[in-house]
Amino acid sequence: MATRTQSFESLNPATGEVVGVFPNTSAKEVNEVVARAKVAAERWANLGFRARYLILRSWASLLTREIDNAAHLIHRETGKPLSDATLETALAIEHISWAGKFAPRVLARQNRPSGLLMFNLHSQVQRVPFGVVGVIGPWNYPIFTPIGSIAYALAAGNAVVFKPSEYTPAIGAWLGETWRRVAPFEDIFTVVTGLPETGVALASSDVDKISFTGSTRTAKKVAASCAEKMIPVVLECGGKDPVLVDRDADIDKAAEITLWHAMSNAGQSCIGAERVYVHREVAAEFESAIVRLASQLKAGFGEGAHYGPATMPSQLKVIKSHIDDAIKRGGTCIFGGKDAIHEGYVEPVIFKDVPEDSLAVTEETFGPTLVINTVRDMDEAVDRANATSYGLGAAVWSRRNGKRIASLLRCGMVSINAAFSFAAVGAVPFGGVKDSGYGRIHGAEGLLEFTFPRTVVKTRFRIPLEFTTFKRSKRADSILLALTKLRHQKRR
Ligand code: NAD
Repeated sequence: MATRTQSFESLNPATGEVVGVFPNTSAKEVNEVVARAKVAAERWANLGFRARYLILRSWASLLTREIDNAAHLIHRETGKPLSDATLETALAIEHISWAGKFAPRVLARQNRPSGLLMFNLHSQVQRVPFGVVGVIGPWNYPIFTPIGSIAYALAAGNAVVFKPSEYTPAIGAWLGETWRRVAPFEDIFTVVTGLPETGVALASSDVDKISFTGSTRTAKKVAASCAEKMIPVVLECGGKDPVLVDRDADIDKAAEITLWHAMSNAGQSCIGAERVYVHREVAAEFESAIVRLASQLKAGFGEGAHYGPATMPSQLKVIKSHIDDAIKRGGTCIFGGKDAIHEGYVEPVIFKDVPEDSLAVTEETFGPTLVINTVRDMDEAVDRANATSYGLGAAVWSRRNGKRIASLLRCGMVSINAAFSFAAVGAVPFGGVKDSGYGRIHGAEGLLEFTFPRTVVKTRFRIPLEFTTFKRSKRADSILLALTKLRHQKRR
């Protein structure tokens, strides 16, 4: 990626071809966009759920008609296979549709019981959109990931200003352009392309909420900047997802899916498998099955490639340092090894017996590498799985114990006998704990995330016993005390 002050290029990481030249939006321009979005936000919120749903539905329909354009752009800009780019776009479309359809139900006004002492009140909770949500996105799933914030924020009645990654501005700009073709008026959803400074500007602008997806390192800076202005923030960060394989698992299936879980998208998935804890009784069988399948994988850009190059060249240094460290500390390469990296591509690397405190076990590698460590039982697997600073997703492979094992994992999402599956379900929340972030996108929780609760309590009728007045009588005091004792005193 070459940079200039006013504009920057997006390059195909496989060929070096210039995919496009995009404005490097300045802080002043970001502030102007946010100011216009403030005005649009009010109109957009006032349209109501039904009208917003119809517009989101038109957008989903337009994206579906143009899915090939999206997929080709993603393919060129990230280097990932066309079919992966199509899958990613299809899932993003599902989320737009889900968010629009379920927003009225999830965000409907709720009446709540007022309780014995306040029985003359009518209590209600309303959900209010924040106003303008700033969305800052990564490059690894450049349409699927940001849509998890954009669609849910829009469906909840917010305007959105989106800053795509500097590695994938073309797909970001395309998203903004397709929206303009269905939007009822300007400035509801605006894309501001740019280098990281544009993200800095958005996070310190007059937005009402930030939804950030990217590395934990950047997330901390974004959170610090938002704290200055008390701007609430959702942080979707990195992971070090474990896979736990019990002795009763379908080993062939576990090996097949775990290979994809770890290597697809060249390992550049926040919820990608990076470490496996396999029961000692089935470890040898699992290792030989996964190695056999890994030998069929092909990295490349053309037809037939299973995954592409590293989209962000600087990540190659990180991947290499993790491979070198694992080998230096006594890990055994059972597939690939030291020479896996060449000309922007990383061939699969599978290790076994890597010390738990090595980089390949503790830090996000974001490459097609996998550590397989043997455990005596699933309790040990759970302890090790929970030991890193991350807590995004996990996968469990077991015919009988999947739910029990899943319930012990300190992370935001678990697949049982599957991988990645939760990300494709509109109805369930997506997000992590610990260094993987906080807040949620997707599902009812994702809609709630982009609104705040407004409590409205109304007096339905007057009663002789008024507590919230200086005129409160002695009789009211004694009735209050008697009622409180009656209800709570005997409960120990
Ligand atoms: P990154 O942190 O380098 O950049 C993310 C975005 O933040 C980019 O748009 C960038 O321009 C912007 N940015 C950079 N510095 C900024 C600053 N100081 N203030 C505001 N914005 C700034 O991350 P990346 O390399 O683009 O993405 C890869 C990371 O994202 C990985 O760690 C991956 O695990 C994570 N990720 C997480 C999820 C999730 O949902 N949890 C999904 C996809 C990717």
